[in-house]
Amino acid sequence: MNKSLENIYDVAVIGGGHAGVEAALAVARMGKTAALITMDANRLALMSCNPAIGGIAKSHVVKEVDALGGLMGRAIDATGIQFRRLNLSRGPAVWSTRVQADRIAYTKYVSDLVGAHKNVTMVEDVAGELLADGTAVCGVRTEQGEIIRSRAVIVTTGTFLAGLIHIGEKKIKAGRMDEQAAYELSKSLLSLGFELGRLKTGTPPRLDGDTVNWEKCEKQQGHEPIPFFSYSNGRRKVDQVACYLTKTTAETKRIISANFGRSPIFSGQITSTGPRYCPSIEAKFHRFADKESHQIFLEPEGNGTNEIYPNGFSTALPEEVQNSAIRTVVGLEHAKITRPGYAIEYDYSPAYQIKPSLETRRVRGLFFAGQINGTSGYEEAAGQGLMAGINAVLYIEHEPPFVLDRSEAYIGVMIDDLTTRSTTEPYRLFTSRAEYRLALREDNARDRLFGYAKKYGLIPEGDFAEFEKLKKETEGVINRLRRTRIKVADLGDLGIRFKKTERISLENLLKQPNITINEALPFLKQADPALPDRHEVLERAAIFIRYSGYIGKQKREIEKFRRMEEERIPFDFDYETVSGLKVEAREKFLHFRPASLGQAGRIEGVSPGDIAVLSVYLMRHKGAD
Ligand SMILES: Cc1cc2nc3c(=O)[nH]c(=O)nc-3n(C[C@H](O)[C@H](O)[C@H](O)COP(=O)(O)OP(=O)(O)OC[C@H]3O[C@@H](n4cnc5c(N)ncnc54)[C@H](O)[C@@H]3O)c2cc1C
Repeated sequence: MNKSLENIYDVAVIGGGHAGVEAALAVARMGKTAALITMDANRLALMSCNPAIGGIAKSHVVKEVDALGGLMGRAIDATGIQFRRLNLSRGPAVWSTRVQADRIAYTKYVSDLVGAHKNVTMVEDVAGELLADGTAVCGVRTEQGEIIRSRAVIVTTGTFLAGLIHIGEKKIKAGRMDEQAAYELSKSLLSLGFELGRLKTGTPPRLDGDTVNWEKCEKQQGHEPIPFFSYSNGRRKVDQVACYLTKTTAETKRIISANFGRSPIFSGQITSTGPRYCPSIEAKFHRFADKESHQIFLEPEGNGTNEIYPNGFSTALPEEVQNSAIRTVVGLEHAKITRPGYAIEYDYSPAYQIKPSLETRRVRGLFFAGQINGTSGYEEAAGQGLMAGINAVLYIEHEPPFVLDRSEAYIGVMIDDLTTRSTTEPYRLFTSRAEYRLALREDNARDRLFGYAKKYGLIPEGDFAEFEKLKKETEGVINRLRRTRIKVADLGDLGIRFKKTERISLENLLKQPNITINEALPFLKQADPALPDRHEVLERAAIFIRYSGYIGKQKREIEKFRRMEEERIPFDFDYETVSGLKVEAREKFLHFRPASLGQAGRIEGVSPGDIAVLSVYLMRHKGAD
């Protein structure tokens, strides 16, 4: 490990979690030097909770990170042990990929990759203080007293800022179990004038797989062909492992309900808010009192370990209650807990304090990414880390920031949500957060983002040529699907409305509303054996045909949306001079400082009338320039 701390780095990244590694690599790929200051250089991008990447909407972000040259997709492709596609019975906008990870192999893959990059210097220490020169950041002082000078700093501290673990009545100062928390850095942020809030999250106990009665659980296999994440990976053979489904019983409910008062979530010991969509088992029994049972997924933590992650059983109850409650779950009657579940509270920075570039408004050259911005999830963190890395380089080079809008990427939706709304609970992505879902699919991440990857030099040149070939091949397939016809009689009992004696085009087949694309796909090759075998090409062509009408309509909506986004508002715009604004709107504008008229309109409490008034003033402002 190189510890040439006298060096001035282009960017110092604090924290080697999912946000930090993407940030450091983006900086490095753009030809700048990064110092990655983290507590354990051999455990980069460690999964704090569930050993899986992807899931609904999160998988879209992984594809976007991949299209922008990020590492998450490649890392999980290389270390995944079960690959599944979700939501296939619904439209392609919500098709998602979820991959079970070998948790230790994943962190090793990432640590090796990042540590080996010539532009990244690993600094194994705890960042304690941010150094500023006037209003601009200029480096970091570690808790051991080392000074790391840099032209920009990205803070990606996850759940470590003033982290406090709760297990029943027990409290432990830690960033994760058995890892130290970062208290000094919280103080430094406060002294720079940042507002910090408290959020909480939690994790289930881990189980010894040898003590589980698998016969009593429902087996869930991975999918074939394997839905890899990254466009760039050489496909590997995977012996996929199974996951299992089980459920809690009436006795689980009884034990947990009898101990509500001993959970720090209900006893008043924890006052901060946790992720609404990922509640603890005690919160589930409390909130849904009529529900007798909850599903639990038993997920292996990797190939080299027997540990099992009981997804759905997050808890902060005392250990003895965890022990007796887990043994009432079907198949877990003799289960042994290897590590207890716990809740953790940590400091975060309410995201009105950052700009859409993720640079803080208060200190120039200082960026925040990941959990510190109030989000939850590895994928959300990775998306922000990548954007912060790119924007830190653009900042150094005095170039305009790179901001994705809501019609271009889930990353854009997330950052826009963060910077226009108040985060009072951990934020996670859902497909329902994106109004232009049909345009933001997993399959077209490269169509949407490769232009930017090229502009900022994020991926190798050769990859663009490969993608052009894929696009050409897709066009060829679309034309064949329009020309080739199939006898309705050959479609078996698909139940489409044509007479058995008719022949219809494959295009027409794909447009039938009562069958899914996946039901239609096998018949395409049957009707036209000359179609390519490559699943990706066939699927891209099929999606294009099926949804071209809707996609065209959405494109027109996006054009309208963009016109509002193009109405830029100067950062220092003087809202006090705008007469006719409601008091609430003026306060919100001052608080969030929207970057465009479109963004101003999305702030809670702002009415169309306020936007009309603001629009007139902006026109005048422009005229005066
Ligand atoms: C107990 C627990 C349960 C969770 N449950 C869920 C869940 O159910 N669902 C979900 O979506 N997410 C969950 N999460 C959150 C998920 O782990 C994070 O969203 C994600 O890891 C955030 O990535 P990050 O890069 O922001 O931070 P992290 O992955 O937490 O990484 C932070 C890194 O920064 C380093 N670091 C911190 N401070 C300093 C410092 N001062 N100096 C040097 N290094 C520092 C740490 O060592 C670590 O490597 C959970 C987290 C925990 C701890």
